[in-house]
Amino acid sequence: MSENTFPGDKIAQIEEFEAGNNAYDNGDMVFAAVIGKKNIDKESRTISISHKKQLSIPQVGDIVIGKIVAVMSSMIAVSIEYINGKKTVSNVECICSTRNIRRKNVALVNDIIKLKIIGHLNGTIHAAMDDPSLGVLFTKCRKCGGNVVQMRDAIKCIECSWIDERKLSTDFGNSDFIKLEE
Ligand SMILES: [Zn+2]
Repeated sequence: MSENTFPGDKIAQIEEFEAGNNAYDNGDMVFAAVIGKKNIDKESRTISISHKKQLSIPQVGDIVIGKIVAVMSSMIAVSIEYINGKKTVSNVECICSTRNIRRKNVALVNDIIKLKIIGHLNGTIHAAMDDPSLGVLFTKCRKCGGNVVQMRDAIKCIECSWIDERKLSTDFGNSDFIKLEE
């Protein structure tokens, strides 16, 4: 019987088994690195974790959709939920520079945004939104949290009429991204 593991679960002592795929050790204990199932190989004395789904790390050129988890002065951090239209369970994060985007509020925390992966550097996944199709797909009013409608490059709150700016995707207001789930 194999059981589900979560990242950081202790799965063995190092005297018993060595860390195989998707596992790591601290010189004492072996830990799971990912969500999956334990596999023990008694011959090689290794313990590994297999996934149902491969851990999804987006590659350069991939189009990702995710939720913004942090907005800093010159960049945003995004938890990736879709890679090329496919739902991903691993929710890896990428960062995207907003330095050259002339908008009052490029994007807000919890906005849904579409980005293109441009590189991996020191373990960080970098993305960009310098294409009309890239940018915010879903956002809310910064003042009242109400729903907004697009007015050319700006957005207007339907609750309080606050007008604001985002770096909108040409797909803004088109909720098709939700249907990508299957
Ligand atoms: Zn509002």
